[in-house]
Amino acid sequence: MSTQPVQIVARIRPPLLNEQTDDAISIVPIPAGHNLTAARPIPFTSWVSVSSTGMKTGTTQIQNSQTAFHTAFGSETTQLQLFDTAVSPHLPPLLKGHTLTILAYGPTSSGKTHTMEGSSSEPGIIPRSVRVLFDMSEEGKDSGRIASFEVHMSYLELYKDDAFDLLVSQRAHEKLPIRTNAKGETFVVGLTRVPIKSFEDWKNVFRTASQNRTTGATLLNRASSRSHAMLSIEIEVLFLISSIAYNGKINLVDLAGSENNKHTGNSLANPTRLAESAAINKSLSTLGQVVHALNTGASRIPYRDSNLTRLLSASLGGKALGKTILLCNLAPGVKFRSDVLNTLNFASRTKNIETKTVVNEREKPAPVEPVREKEAVASTGLTRRTSIQSRRVSTSHIPAPGSRIPSYGAGGHSRLSGFGLGGNGVGSIAGRGSGIDDADLNERINKAVEAEVKRRLEEKEAQRRLEEEEREQKIQEAQQQVGVEEAEVETELRDVEAMEVDEGHLGVGHHTSDSSPMKVDSVDYEVQSKPRNAHEDDQEDDKEKKKKMDELERKYKEHIAHLEAQLASLMSVAERKKMGKIYVDLARGYTAKNDLATALSLYRHAALFVPDNTRLRERIIDVDWAVKNGKSYVPTPKRQHPRETEEKPKPKSSKTHR
Ligand code: ADP
Ligand code: MG
Repeated sequence: MSTQPVQIVARIRPPLLNEQTDDAISIVPIPAGHNLTAARPIPFTSWVSVSSTGMKTGTTQIQNSQTAFHTAFGSETTQLQLFDTAVSPHLPPLLKGHTLTILAYGPTSSGKTHTMEGSSSEPGIIPRSVRVLFDMSEEGKDSGRIASFEVHMSYLELYKDDAFDLLVSQRAHEKLPIRTNAKGETFVVGLTRVPIKSFEDWKNVFRTASQNRTTGATLLNRASSRSHAMLSIEIEVLFLISSIAYNGKINLVDLAGSENNKHTGNSLANPTRLAESAAINKSLSTLGQVVHALNTGASRIPYRDSNLTRLLSASLGGKALGKTILLCNLAPGVKFRSDVLNTLNFASRTKNIETKTVVNEREKPAPVEPVREKEAVASTGLTRRTSIQSRRVSTSHIPAPGSRIPSYGAGGHSRLSGFGLGGNGVGSIAGRGSGIDDADLNERINKAVEAEVKRRLEEKEAQRRLEEEEREQKIQEAQQQVGVEEAEVETELRDVEAMEVDEGHLGVGHHTSDSSPMKVDSVDYEVQSKPRNAHEDDQEDDKEKKKKMDELERKYKEHIAHLEAQLASLMSVAERKKMGKIYVDLARGYTAKNDLATALSLYRHAALFVPDNTRLRERIIDVDWAVKNGKSYVPTPKRQHPRETEEKPKPKSSKTHR
């Protein structure tokens, strides 16, 4: 068995339905009699062959070397075979406190998710590992070796190098800070960590989390293939005889698609896409550097250069109790040729990769001043509902602050790698004689892209803030205007009232100084319904005052309606809906008290904010009719908010038998 901390395994998926097939990429068994042991201490059985079928450039042969693939699985390999060969042997040590990390690397559609998660008919590494862990626990308990076995799970998504908790709803889409404490332990602040009692229990939690991931992706209009999904399962085992408790951990990571993000139609016109690509390039490139540094025994491991590697620093190889498997997913056919070469370069960084026939097509960017990397650690966010789970982290591999990425020699750049990991890659456009090596060039491109994206995002954000401020200012002015108008009308109303009181009349005495529109409207109602006690002589005066009052009321309503319409035009759709809802809720209260005139007025106010609400318009007609005809009005029951219905578990489907 290999002594290298990171085992690199390849798997090629079969062609999909309707996918054109050719022999461009294949897994070739190592010929009989080939002396494996002398050159390679690892029991290789096969290598990956890549040919440029149908291309003028001839044939390129790629073979695995001792640092490349420990095993290369062909397209006929089943999920079970892969699991039994590559993963299963590494699970028992978890019960003794070991750590296992499995990373699925490859371009989108190469089979990463299939390999990690699989389907119910063809479960992948994740469900199989969880089942085996619980089976081992049962066996241990049955045989009296294990006293207790506790499992906890956390699941997060790294998108643009920010962490999102997949065990909580993604609606809020709250990103969590990533911190490194004084002991060098890196953790996600507030990440949910749930206890798991059984395989079935895990299945339920994982299903919900996967839905959360899909919801988050949909809400943000992004593809889940552009984020890393990291599932961590921690086990604590207490052995009966020794009374020793061990803490083991398995990290199962479905990485973002590794397709060459610089060549996938990204342009500076799409900052989001660029930011995604920059983050993916950076984290995968750092991962490659970390893996290489670990496997070559480098003194410095550049964990700190991406959040992905920071979070995995405690588990990624390097220490006696940690094992890592880098699973390189490959897709067949010439279409995936450059992606496959890219993956092989990523995995191997060796001289065995012949890429002499590959023509370099990348444009040479102008050198850019390096930009200082900002550490993506937020300063707040400590108020989440779960406790902080500081992870078991080995401090021995945390590089000193300010440590730099080690230089990996004279490796030229392969345009296919995209990660600065190419070995003696042909296609090195910058390396030879130019004084800039590939890692440098890649880093500069990444930094230039990041700087441009950052600048554009900041510009956009500043513009948005300005617009927001202007809008808020307008709303405030409009609200103040409403207040002034209300106060003026109120004063006029009070003057009229005072006159009436002076004259010993109580014509309209019930309204208060409360200036809300509903009160004024209720005045309207009361004016109409109040029985009159006036003497014959005063009737003319009363009519006069009533006319004045009506005029004032009309004016008031007009003002308010006008100003509210103005206000509504300045509000966002969500704000208008909110205002509409407030008025409707108030109206419902008055309807319940049978104060239909006030309710009617409030419904009308609501309609100013949500004019397209047909249900509301119908209600206004009904209530208006009831007021005019002195009838009562029974509203239809309140409709449940779609979100409330959505969150509830679906009722079991009742089968109808006819
Ligand atoms: P990725 O996660 O890398 O984007 P997927 O896992 O979604 O790729 O795989 C893409 C498609 O290929 C899916 O339809 C998947 O079912 C299929 N697929 C991938 N690997 C295999 C395999 N080994 N056997 C059969 N189908 C596979
Ligand atoms: Mg996937």
